[in-house]
Order: sequence, then structure tokens, then C-alpha cells
Amino acid sequence: MELTLGLVAGPGTSRANKTGTWRVERPLFLNIKCVACDLCIMLCPEGIIDSNNERYFADLNYCKGCGICAHECPVKDIMMVKEEK
Ligand code: SF4
Ligand code: SF4
Repeated sequence: MELTLGLVAGPGTSRANKTGTWRVERPLFLNIKCVACDLCIMLCPEGIIDSNNERYFADLNYCKGCGICAHECPVKDIMMVKEEK
């Protein structure tokens, strides 16, 4: 079998490959009951959740919609919603 070239071999290129188009659901950060525990930031496998002084949010360019953040949020302040394409 012939392999086609197209793999990403260069280090440090993950930011160049927007992987968010794969998902079928995305997290909705309600920012209502949040207790600022930072669990979502620590547990997101993509490392793309951040916060500012007012709210928590994910970089949807890279979110794969795994739902871990919503599952682990202790106050259920993150909802997974259907992705609109
Ligand atoms: S759904 Fe998964 S990849 Fe997306 S922000 Fe939550 S934990 Fe991270
Ligand atoms: S896990 Fe939930 S409560 Fe904790 S910082 Fe994230 S959104 Fe807020």
C-alpha cells in the first residue's frame, strides 16, 4: 500500500491545525454557578480552556467536544450543546 504524504511531522505545529471541526457537540460555559475551581482548565485534554476576570471559555478552534469539562464541573455550570454546522 502506498502511503500518501500529508502527515504533520514538525514539532510545535498543533496551533496550526484547527481540530475543532471534528466535534458534534461543544461546551457552553454558563458562568452562572461557577466557583472558579479551575477543574475544567486542569482536566481539558486539549488545554484550551481559559478564564478572565469575568468568565470561563474554551477556544473552539481546537475543542474536540469530548465533554470532559462538562462532566467534571462540580456545579454543572458547563453544558454540552449540539454543534451547529
Ligand atoms: S469539550 Fe473537551 S476539548 Fe472541549 S473544552 Fe471541554 S474538555 Fe476541552
Ligand atoms: S469546573 Fe465548573 S466551577 Fe470549576 S472553574 Fe470550571 S466552570 Fe467553574
